[in-house]
Amino acid sequence: MITARAALRLALALCFSSSLAQRPAQDRDQPQARVIHHRAQAAESTRWAASELQRLIKAATGEDLAITSENPQGPAICLEEDRDLPHDGYLIRSEKGNLIIRGNEGHPAGLWDLPSHGTLWGAMEVAERLLGVRWLMPGPHGEDIPTQGKLSFDLAEEIRGQPGLAVRMLAYLGESDREITHRHAPTLQWMKQQRLTNSLHSQVTGYGHSWDDYLKPADIEANPDWKPSSGNYQRNGKVTFFCTTAPGLVERFAQRVMESMDRNPKREMTSISPTDGGGFCTCQRCQALIEPDPHGKPNHARAILTFYKDVANLIAKQRPGRRLGGFVYYNYQYPPSSAPELPDNLSLCWAPLNYYGYGLLKPIYRSEFQPILQGWSQLTPHFFYHNYSTWMRSFHGAPLPVSLDILKREIPATAKVKAWGARMVGSAAWGVNAPINYLLAKQLWNPNLDLEQTLNEWLQRSYGPGWSHLRRLYDLLDQAMAEHKASQSPIYKGSNYEVNQEVMQTLYAPRFPQIEEAYRSTFAKCVSPAQRARLQRFGDNLTLLFHALHQARLIDLSGHPIQAQPPNSTAEASGSTNRTQGAALPATHKATKAPSIFHLNDQAFAQFLKRMQSDHSLLHDRYGIDHGPIWKGEWSEP
Ligand SMILES: [Zn+2]
Repeated sequence: MITARAALRLALALCFSSSLAQRPAQDRDQPQARVIHHRAQAAESTRWAASELQRLIKAATGEDLAITSENPQGPAICLEEDRDLPHDGYLIRSEKGNLIIRGNEGHPAGLWDLPSHGTLWGAMEVAERLLGVRWLMPGPHGEDIPTQGKLSFDLAEEIRGQPGLAVRMLAYLGESDREITHRHAPTLQWMKQQRLTNSLHSQVTGYGHSWDDYLKPADIEANPDWKPSSGNYQRNGKVTFFCTTAPGLVERFAQRVMESMDRNPKREMTSISPTDGGGFCTCQRCQALIEPDPHGKPNHARAILTFYKDVANLIAKQRPGRRLGGFVYYNYQYPPSSAPELPDNLSLCWAPLNYYGYGLLKPIYRSEFQPILQGWSQLTPHFFYHNYSTWMRSFHGAPLPVSLDILKREIPATAKVKAWGARMVGSAAWGVNAPINYLLAKQLWNPNLDLEQTLNEWLQRSYGPGWSHLRRLYDLLDQAMAEHKASQSPIYKGSNYEVNQEVMQTLYAPRFPQIEEAYRSTFAKCVSPAQRARLQRFGDNLTLLFHALHQARLIDLSGHPIQAQPPNSTAEASGSTNRTQGAALPATHKATKAPSIFHLNDQAFAQFLKRMQSDHSLLHDRYGIDHGPIWKGEWSEP
């Protein structure tokens, strides 16, 4: 029997048999065509890597490399496996005229180990580093492939790589919207090119709100003392909350979780996280496990961790080898003053609700972030970070700030405490928010990424010589959001992460002329059709933003802000003569300039929306692309 290791050596050997001495004499004078080689039984991801390299080398250099599993006769790019390399790690080097991409392709069996795809990620490194390819966004014109001469297989130095986080998840990109077919496959491909774990393994983590999956109403009827001390505990025939310290409850809960595991033997991780909304029991027993959080609010973390520990210990004995996940979130997002020791089959996912939607720009949260992160990471050896930090619910094409300030703090600190992974949230409004997606994806792989340089390069590659106008725009938006957040109450509200009327009025309406100017200045300097096409996508979002702001009477036809009238002023007091412009315009407003380039009449706007259905520009989710007018306060689902 050939062991895996022996088979591997055999595979490696194949690539080195291409010396001239082994070739028939009559062929020796003919230069042999270069090929891409992998072993016949190579992993699917390795095969995909080979076809990507073939496609990209052809596009960059014109050279057509055949893919083969036969003994290569000429120089080859060899895709090989080496389980001694780190998880997802690779080694790229020149050997005997060949370019070797060797990666860990193992499927280790440890509880917290994940399948490894080092060869694939090594191939992506070759594309980016040796061919200069950049995957700016999915879809047409999303790639930038500089043309160059023949790709040299000679490397002065070997290249080694491995990720800073084992689990790299980026969400809200359109990766789950299978029904939007023109976007789904290109988005997954972009995610693979960015080496994201959820491009290949979307189910390796499980932390979702899950309590209502387990206990049944009949369980509570038979055990009335399991009810929480107050509040609703049932919704739609499911049990949502209960007293976590009631005798017998943990055993029943664990039993139900194990039944669910047995029904889903292939499920990679099972969540035991509470229902959203935090209606926890405050009976005398539970009360002893509640203490104030750093902001004086009740912190239920010790109660929840105690419950997690008891459930996870029972399951560890009866279902060894199964991973469990639990949120630390909402009114249990701060580490307790003392915590129980957690078993090894449980991972905590810190989802700091206070920091959602640029909350980390609030000085009070910024200063606590590091010690709180440290605190959680010490409580669980498999710490996982999840935040909607640079995300906002945004339906009207607003360019969201990239917030380099937040990005510089968050993932680098997460990697430093040796987190198992992170799940960050991007934006499916690719035309305008692609830089956020790109920076997050790159940081998940390399937490020490130079963010400034990467953003500048992305803008330059995407939009051409006029890129610095957009860089200044992003700095302006970063600054505006930082001021807005600093002025906001630190107390959490759902509307804190929404581009609603307040944010439109504060951030986007006053700056629309600058946004339009940055777009126009950049567009004037575009030198290639691809640059213009990418910037046009940015412009598609501005068309939508103009429409929404104009409909809401926050900007005039020229795109200039319409000042909200101070509550106690009158038209006479303001000295304005603009009454004739229409009753709807506040009297202080003067519209004098030419119409905005983003203005479309009703018919043209309807045609625009129709055209956008098949594009990648605008946010497109299960509600489509038209989400109605700008809303006030918190958005509610239609
Ligand atoms: Zn209780």
